[in-house]
Amino acid sequence: METEGIVLRSRDLGDRLRHISVYTEKLGKIDLLVKVLSKEFPLKYEPFSLTLFKLNQKGDKWEVLESKLVKENFPKSTEELTYRAKVAKAILPLQLPPDRKTYRLIKMYMGQGGAPPTYTAFLMKFLFLEGLMPRLFRCVECGSRKITGFSVEKGGVVCEKCKGEEDLIWKREVSEEAYRLTKEPLEQLKKKNFKWLNLIERAAERHLKFRADR
Ligand SMILES: [Zn+2]
Repeated sequence: METEGIVLRSRDLGDRLRHISVYTEKLGKIDLLVKVLSKEFPLKYEPFSLTLFKLNQKGDKWEVLESKLVKENFPKSTEELTYRAKVAKAILPLQLPPDRKTYRLIKMYMGQGGAPPTYTAFLMKFLFLEGLMPRLFRCVECGSRKITGFSVEKGGVVCEKCKGEEDLIWKREVSEEAYRLTKEPLEQLKKKNFKWLNLIERAAERHLKFRADR
């Protein structure tokens, strides 16, 4: 079978062997053991690369028959490296079954440069597509609209009465920004100013991690 995939992590095992984690279009996230031939330039197995794999199923594992680099996303600046590494790190712990929309999102965002609000927009859009969207406008506990916190554990915003000690401080304006980041196209978002990116990023990362851990 043939599938395109985005390399999320690559570990050198020595002896030209590498262990790579790839989010593929047709199989979702899989792990592969690859051998780098001496005549090959292993860019196709580098993190963030878009690679076409020809695979053969062997028991519950996949064996690489052939592979070809489609597009390298090798970072050209520290900003690009930091950004792409954060995208890969956010999704690595998750079980990711194949999904056309999620694949398109990750492929598109892996090729981005990483200037704000790109990463935060990625997180919000990813949460939305995965059905993990936090509640943003009404307290998750009691439904009140007077929100003052964000509870990772409860999965969204909370009011003063329902807020716990460890919850993030929040307000409606932050939710409005988070909502825009989820819904509007990146090109449009790049032209706007955001005040609460760090806070939204922190909440979205924790929200995702909390859900990935269970
Ligand atoms: Zn409440």
